[in-house]
Amino acid sequence: MAERYAYFQKQIVPLAEAKIGVMTHAFNYGTGCFEGIRGNWNPDKREIFLFRVRDHYRRLARSCKILMIDLPYTEDELVDLTIKVVAKCEFEEDIYVRPLAYKSSEMLGVRLHNLESDFLIFVSPFGPYLDVDAGARCCTSSWRRVSDMGIPARSKPTGIYLNSALAKTEAQLNGFDEAIVLSHEGHVSEGSGENIFVIQNGRLITPPQHDDILVGITRECVIRLAQEELGLETVERSIDRSELYIADEVFMTGTAAHVTPIIEIDRRSIGDGNVGSISQKLMRLYFAAIRGELEKYSHWSTPAYATARGMGVLR
Ligand code: PMP
Repeated sequence: MAERYAYFQKQIVPLAEAKIGVMTHAFNYGTGCFEGIRGNWNPDKREIFLFRVRDHYRRLARSCKILMIDLPYTEDELVDLTIKVVAKCEFEEDIYVRPLAYKSSEMLGVRLHNLESDFLIFVSPFGPYLDVDAGARCCTSSWRRVSDMGIPARSKPTGIYLNSALAKTEAQLNGFDEAIVLSHEGHVSEGSGENIFVIQNGRLITPPQHDDILVGITRECVIRLAQEELGLETVERSIDRSELYIADEVFMTGTAAHVTPIIEIDRRSIGDGNVGSISQKLMRLYFAAIRGELEKYSHWSTPAYATARGMGVLR
């Protein structure tokens, strides 16, 4: 197996050496924010394609602003560091890259100000998250999505994932694959780590930003692929829970989940209970795009190994 490395305290080190102290502020209070970036292995090209890496770093910069975390790196520096860590690991499979900016002071006291910040990256092999072929079975969670008045969901703070973990565990321990979480107003917000789309009469509908979603990068890709490749419009509007039950198709999107069809919600079959045809088409387009196979969307994918060779950090 390939060795694992991390970028930690301004150096690339073996993953086993990247350790934080027990008093680290982010560990105690959830004062970090992160991204999840997929590296998609293309066996024919023997290449890992990092998907929309710059967009992830732009979102990280926005999260840092909300959480008052210093991120003293340019976007180019963050991309270069990511490529260096990925190249050092030399994985030949799908990977997940986790950049994390966090309050690193080893100090007690709940606050965001007057604390040091640090930034790290680690990489892990990462296969499928949900069953994209068979589709997922979901339940509506009894938990509510954290509102922007509590913890801003448009940032990606470590601490907010307790909300996701409560929903995911409730769903899985009750025999479902994934949770659908409603907002405080009772509208469909998102999955525990995915955005959600409903298809009704050939039209895509997805919750708007003000329903406390993380504005997903995969969500944006799918909106674009639907429009440009299938001529299908997406409407961003609030969705009622019962609209899910009568939808023709439902699917979820996310860096981990890719495009995952939802075949059942709260024990009601979606459509005829099989993966719908539009979801199927979008999945195919999306998978081709993320492995660097669609010329038109090649700007979404950064070939990590070829770039590392160009930088002289990989032979
Ligand atoms: N919502 C939540 C809560 C998430 O954690 C994620 C995964 N990052 C998403 C939506 C999907 O976002 P993206 O497509 O950018 O991965």
